[in-house]
Amino acid sequence: MTDRAAEIAANLADVRARIAAACASAGRSVDEVRLLAVTKTFPAEDAAVLTDLGVLDLAENREQEAGPKAEAVAGLRPAVAPRWHMVGRLQRNKARSVVRWAAEVQSVDSARLAEALGRATAAAIAAGERAGALDVLLQASVDGDPARGGCPLEDLPALADEVIRSGDLRLRGIMAVAPLGMEPRAAFDRLSGAARRVRAGHPTAVELSCGMSNDLEVAIDYGSTCVRVGTALLGSRKLASP
Ligand SMILES: *Cc1c(COP(=O)(O)O)cnc(C)c1O
Repeated sequence: MTDRAAEIAANLADVRARIAAACASAGRSVDEVRLLAVTKTFPAEDAAVLTDLGVLDLAENREQEAGPKAEAVAGLRPAVAPRWHMVGRLQRNKARSVVRWAAEVQSVDSARLAEALGRATAAAIAAGERAGALDVLLQASVDGDPARGGCPLEDLPALADEVIRSGDLRLRGIMAVAPLGMEPRAAFDRLSGAARRVRAGHPTAVELSCGMSNDLEVAIDYGSTCVRVGTALLGSRKLASP
């Protein structure tokens, strides 16, 4: 094992222990929380090491970086099939590219984007570029600040209806980042209430993607089913990441 692989393995053991402890104190099973490794700004080799360690859910936040990286990892580890997740802001003109590599897009925050992804998915299936439907999470904005992306909480049920209307999208749940300057408990409390309201109308929307390196314990306490962890697994990012 290389030094880097050993470092990532040790970080992964720490993160898994944190998740297990948080689940235990929340009275939840560890099987209810998936770990998404956020590999943005890190090389394909690091993502390949994560797959060696059994982490097959990988996430990126920029389409331009993610497509080539997913391809590079497939070249490095042809026998494994990681699931790639898009967790960053996405422009509609990138829909056709993102559906070539992403199993799931967690950052759907407008009806127009949902519609573009639905069309792109249908076209990619027809062209033999993907096998089936695209899993989708609605990105919620807990503080309603439009500058940082995300759909205001009160508009989520209408956006969920829009996703359902597009045949090739599968509504899986809600995603959010705790706003800067808001106490994580307050943010995740509001978020989990909004997620429950969406689920009432859309029973397939079971996922609540929240919690990152710094706040995953609080997120698990409020019902997170998917924590997105970058820094705690791979170290601090040297490049600026929007
Ligand atoms: C970068 C990123 C993460 C991971 O953040 P860390 O603090 O490095 O764990 C999670 N979610 C999104 C949307 C991100 O862009």
